[in-house]
Amino acid sequence: MYYFETGESIITRMAETVTQWLFPMATYCLCCGKYINGSRSYCICDHCIQRITWGNVEINLDEEAKHLGRPSAMDSARACMKYGLYERRLIFDLKYDGLTYVSRAIANIMHDRIITDMHAAEQLSSADFIIPVPVHKEKEKQRGFNQAEKMSHHLARRLHRRHLPDALVRQKQTAAQRSITGQERYANMEGAFLVNPKEAGRVAGKNIILIDDVYTSGATAHACASALKGAGAKEVHFMGLATGNDFADGFFGLEKVRINS
Ligand SMILES: [Zn+2]
Repeated sequence: MYYFETGESIITRMAETVTQWLFPMATYCLCCGKYINGSRSYCICDHCIQRITWGNVEINLDEEAKHLGRPSAMDSARACMKYGLYERRLIFDLKYDGLTYVSRAIANIMHDRIITDMHAAEQLSSADFIIPVPVHKEKEKQRGFNQAEKMSHHLARRLHRRHLPDALVRQKQTAAQRSITGQERYANMEGAFLVNPKEAGRVAGKNIILIDDVYTSGATAHACASALKGAGAKEVHFMGLATGNDFADGFFGLEKVRINS
């Protein structure tokens, strides 16, 4: 049973067709760059699609909170795949190679993950707003865009939900977090985000879907959710493309395909 209205108007479908024609997204695999035809799901070739570890992945926030010794500010956290070599390619194409059209494929993956998982569809159907995790202004200036905002824009359109791209502001530029522990990451991200005063009245009492590319330790999503809850948001549900989190569960078990071939 679907809890989201998925019917799209003929004008929307025509616009999608024209966009596909204008931009070569459907011509090359987004993971390996191999030539493909437009019929491939999410513009990923057969080779790569089998090597991605897909899943209706959910982070066990209770277990994560126990491990960290602090409660999570999120009500749920989900992802669509494991963060590995092939999965990373999609994110790198968007983030570092500036192929912003990849965000549409990523939003399609997120959309399908939500509507095919009854628990997710039920929990997220009451969402009022879709909000991206912001990057620091300096980084956004260098990159020219915020990758999470590109994804959340397309996802909001597909789920027929209101997009609030400026609801959160990143006020602290944090150093690369790769070599520090989970606990240190959480401490590092403390107070990194605030709710834009212009939007604070809007988020109070509302249910939010928070969007980012990857869920690693959860520190960034937690800091965003804390800020939103501080402004009175009722529920904050995180949705990411990929995760490498130890408390993630729900992968479809395609590891074998990866090993055998
Ligand atoms: Zn490929």
